[in-house]
Amino acid sequence: MEDCIFCKIVEGKCPCYKIYEDDYTLAFLDISKDCYGHTLVIPKKHFKNTLDCDEEIFARVMLTVQKIAKHYVNLGFKGVNILNANNKEAGQSVNHLHFHILPKMEESDFDSWPKLNGTIVSFEEQLERLKIN
Ligand code: 5GP
Ligand code: ZN
Repeated sequence: MEDCIFCKIVEGKCPCYKIYEDDYTLAFLDISKDCYGHTLVIPKKHFKNTLDCDEEIFARVMLTVQKIAKHYVNLGFKGVNILNANNKEAGQSVNHLHFHILPKMEESDFDSWPKLNGTIVSFEEQLERLKIN
């Protein structure tokens, strides 16, 4: 898609530090350099996010996410966080589906889990709205 930075990376029109690629997916280092090994996994075909992605392609992306996560743990990292934002209200800033992989050595490395405020709504009331029947 025109004007999509990740499509440009897939097409080789913009450079990236490539970790892995296969026919369907690409993994490369996030430009932010905000932690060691911050990696993005994307489909080569453009989808905005989880909500519009073709099921088979989504499954391929998840397989690559798992491959990279296991690879990093095999390299000696103790754990990984896997993060994904869908739509700007959820913090998505690049409109091409991507999963962030953040390798961790220690719990205290950095905080990559959001601080939440809690809810007073009961589980029953939540279920009434959220359950898939
Ligand atoms: P989001 O906020 O949409 O979940 O994450 C988008 C991520 O893409 C950000 O962490 C940002 O640093 C990264 N990013 C944006 N532009 C580029 C780029 O041109 N190259 C790379 N490697 N990462 C990018
Ligand atoms: Zn794109």
